[in-house]
Amino acid sequence: MSKVPIRQATQAAIDQAAERLAAGELVVFPTETVYGLGGDATRETAVAAIFEAKGRPAHNPLIAHVADLHVLRQIAVVNAQAEALARAFWPGALTLVLERSASCAVAPLATAGLATIAVRIPAHETALALLRAFGGPVVAPSANVSGRVSPTRAEHVQLTNEQHVAMILDAGPCTIGLESTIVDLSGGWPQLLRPGGITKEQIETVIGAIEQGPQVSDRPSAPGQLESHYAPKARLRINAEAPGEDEAYLAFGDAPDHSGGVQLNLSPKADLSEAAANLYDFLRRLDAAGASAIAVAPIPDEGVGRAINDRLKRAAAPR
Ligand code: AMP
Ligand code: MG
Repeated sequence: MSKVPIRQATQAAIDQAAERLAAGELVVFPTETVYGLGGDATRETAVAAIFEAKGRPAHNPLIAHVADLHVLRQIAVVNAQAEALARAFWPGALTLVLERSASCAVAPLATAGLATIAVRIPAHETALALLRAFGGPVVAPSANVSGRVSPTRAEHVQLTNEQHVAMILDAGPCTIGLESTIVDLSGGWPQLLRPGGITKEQIETVIGAIEQGPQVSDRPSAPGQLESHYAPKARLRINAEAPGEDEAYLAFGDAPDHSGGVQLNLSPKADLSEAAANLYDFLRRLDAAGASAIAVAPIPDEGVGRAINDRLKRAAAPR
């Protein structure tokens, strides 16, 4: 459990949070995807504190969040494809990797020294209010220990080092519950780096065919190798039609009750968006119930189901 004070996300609390950011401290805030650990993107010390708080390797770049295209243009080169995707999906759960602008004041540490920068305008009211009150870009990875389950509620927030974290703004559960879709527009052709709530097909209706790029991970490694991430404490077994004797079961859709064991259903009516919103919360609950192993039902690999399966595969990867 975090010792950082949790505050209801009233305008007064949001204004105070913006002041803390301006003072170089960190603030946890809700977005429609997951809760983020935010800091002033232009301040090297604040960015360093984020990596420290999460135990995140410094070569894993962060996403810069902004309130509008005006602030975005100060840090990134918005090309024609980015304009089109911005019009279609922002504010929303889409992150674009763009070229850093010549005048970009974002700390090099935030972008791992790259010539590109990942940017997003989130849709959550509290996130937007905070970004507007602060004015500049805010880098905000998920507010969890690196490699573990992302927080989708204020009370899930947990960090390795909370020394520089001033407060947690609470606005209830996240509606999407999975990290943003990431599309790289900085090269010759668009690449999908991470599946998310906005699907490949939706993006392709706007800019045409995109290809599957190298998968993002905490520790860039050999191509195709799955990196352990989003992992609960319990061992995870995916595509399981039924739980084994000592396994808790994370079901989906019309599943028989495997009574005797612990069982939760991501979406009894087989709705993939509902399943995405429940995923991290339910993994936590099964952990909390003391399960040492969790079997997860097959999830249809379509639409947001692909993002769910991406996270589950990583959560099940060897640690
Ligand atoms: P998160 O871990 O949810 O904060 O998302 C950040 C992810 O975006 C990282 O894991 C990176 O792999 C990816 N990312 C951020 N910046 C860049 C960039 N400039 N180029 C490619 N990928 C990036
Ligand atoms: Mg994360």
